[in-house]
Amino acid sequence: MSELTPLREALLKRLADGQFHSGEQLGDALQISRAAVSKHVQALKSLGLDIYSVSGKGYRLAVPLQLLDAERLSRALAPVRVEVIPVIGSTNQHWLESIPRLSQGDVCLAECQTSGRGRRGRTWISPFGGQLIMSLYWRLEQGMAAAMGLSLVVGVAVVEALESAGFGGIELKWPNDLYLNGRKLAGILVEMSGTAGGPCHLVIGMGLNLVLPATEQERITQPWAELAELGEITDRNGLVIALVQGLQRALTRFEQEGIAGFRECWNRLDHFNGKPVRVLMGEQQVHGTARGIDDQGALLLELESGEIKRYLGGEISLRGNDRD
Ligand code: ATP
Repeated sequence: MSELTPLREALLKRLADGQFHSGEQLGDALQISRAAVSKHVQALKSLGLDIYSVSGKGYRLAVPLQLLDAERLSRALAPVRVEVIPVIGSTNQHWLESIPRLSQGDVCLAECQTSGRGRRGRTWISPFGGQLIMSLYWRLEQGMAAAMGLSLVVGVAVVEALESAGFGGIELKWPNDLYLNGRKLAGILVEMSGTAGGPCHLVIGMGLNLVLPATEQERITQPWAELAELGEITDRNGLVIALVQGLQRALTRFEQEGIAGFRECWNRLDHFNGKPVRVLMGEQQVHGTARGIDDQGALLLELESGEIKRYLGGEISLRGNDRD
């Protein structure tokens, strides 16, 4: 995977409008040869950018790109610190390593992750500019046990912020996904460090698909969705601001009310509520009907006998009955 050097960033800024730019124009503007332009375009493509060329016209991005604007984000979110690193291994990893110097609510954002991750070592595909990729730091005085089920609260906060921004109809899947029309739109990954009895340091990561380039789509191993299906994303940076502010409000409320304060909202947004599902734990599968969550954030499953079983913890996955 290539690096985003200052020269490549300058090239990308010129291509961001989604219009054709000839190799000659680009070379003149950046003071490099046409061959060098072609080489750097290839490097940008390897970051997951969908750039194509037409002879006689030049290079063009398949869809215009709104790059993250570190200055605007920092101004809008102050006093929270905003770090924008265009190409990074994993924003969660970077923020976990940065904990000693972070303050409540600090945010790390990236255009592209080269080693994005999901739960239990699974891969999260994050092509350049195709998502909102962010990690937020939160210190929870109540300690690790209180952090259980926090991804549910994050899910509610993100869906509500998106609703307010005009993107309605998004649902949640226990414990950590956003769904659009039954397909995965975003993943949430909460990671933590701390010691028993002390405060807990949380890194709350999220990858939300905006528009995924065709070349990256086939790498995703389950049905997926993108926000652009719901309408044009006119202000990507504005969306980041709304999401971060919504998350901060929700986390503050969570400290006072726990998950119980979010239960009703979560159940309203639950994609599987009332539907036949399977709960997977390693080799074991339990079939039943999903009945939302309880005040601790446990998944409630109604068995055929009418008995309600509770599931809480990390090694559990939920699936619709129609999917392997
Ligand atoms: P679980 O229900 O256990 O959370 P999951 O398959 O949703 O299962 P996660 O760890 O939440 O697992 O997410 C990782 C999975 O998400 C990957 O294995 C892949 O199938 C899918 N995935 C990876 N990148 C994307 C993306 N950009 N958009 C949608 N889905 C993705």
